Amino acid sequence: MAEVLVLVDHVDGKVRKTTSELLTIARRLGEPSAVFVGSGFDAAKETLARFGAEKIYRVESPEVLEHLVVPQAELLAQLVADKAPAAVLVPSSPEGKEIAARLAIKTESGLITDAVDVQAADGGVTTTQSVFAGSYTVSATVTKGTPIVAVKPNSATPEEAAGAAADEVLDFAPSEAAKGAKVTESKPKQATGRPELTEAAIVVSGGRGTAGDFSKVEDFADSLGAAVGASRAAVDAGWYPHTSQVGQTGKQVSPQLYVACGISGAIQHRAGMQTSKTIVAVNKDNEAPIFELVDFGVVGDLFTVLPQATDAIKAAKD
Ligand code: FAD
Repeated sequence: MAEVLVLVDHVDGKVRKTTSELLTIARRLGEPSAVFVGSGFDAAKETLARFGAEKIYRVESPEVLEHLVVPQAELLAQLVADKAPAAVLVPSSPEGKEIAARLAIKTESGLITDAVDVQAADGGVTTTQSVFAGSYTVSATVTKGTPIVAVKPNSATPEEAAGAAADEVLDFAPSEAAKGAKVTESKPKQATGRPELTEAAIVVSGGRGTAGDFSKVEDFADSLGAAVGASRAAVDAGWYPHTSQVGQTGKQVSPQLYVACGISGAIQHRAGMQTSKTIVAVNKDNEAPIFELVDFGVVGDLFTVLPQATDAIKAAKD
């Protein structure tokens, strides 16, 4: 069975959920081989094995990450040439998409980004994308070279499957051309204790209806172990950081559950959340457009509804 390369997304060996999703998808297409770059391999190995990686190619040279993403594209191109994989899967993050695009050029292959589903078909792969702010679903297939697919977070439920995880240290050094930019400083974000927005299973977002007070949104999110998002109106008003903006010009999320609180449901907001599996809205206007989209809607004041919901969830946990 042909290998399927999965670029591992991790922080010092702590493997992100997107990678277990990609390994789960890779098993539909062939034999998953993880590609691990950076430090913390020992911590990562167990997770990669648990989600079915049969092989792990790893590069220890710190040089690879010192020069942003270009060396990673070179590394994957080398692996594509050596291993002739059935497909290459990367996370559909800004970095993942840049790596995928560079890899597609280097290997003269077709590339599909922002896939929300990937399946095996006729010896290749077929993907599903949600386009035009989610108003169309597009199926596509790669017809040239090695299929390279950037997959959005939460596109699959991670399923465990013991893999051999035989690791092989690769002899790889980036070319001079790949060293054109260098990281000069890297600082961790201030930790909120909440999951990262694009990979959270539950996202609770606040909009202009919060009137700048996100405390009820945050309390409710914390009761669910959710990430907190915001509409552009809330971000533009300076109530929440831009890194939390959901929508066309913000982040695209696709969680199991999305709760929109005091958000009207403008098309540009929908573009970032309407592929969520279940959508709930709390809005005091029963004619708000968001209610056209929801699975469950609550017509009411968020300052009344959210504390009640938070109390009920806490009580149910006790
Ligand atoms: P509003 O539209 O003002 O809605 C507030 C809602 O809160 C109303 O429905 C109201 O009934 C409700 N409400 C008020 N008080 C309460 C209360 N106490 N309890 C319950 N409900 C209450 N927007 C994004 O979100 N993300 C983007 O990425 C984005 N990109 C854009 C790109 C472009 C090029 C443009 C032109 C616009 C973009 N926008 C984006 C802006 C978008 O068009 C909307 O203006 C924005 O989404 C509105 O935010 P909102 O729903 O919070 O505010």
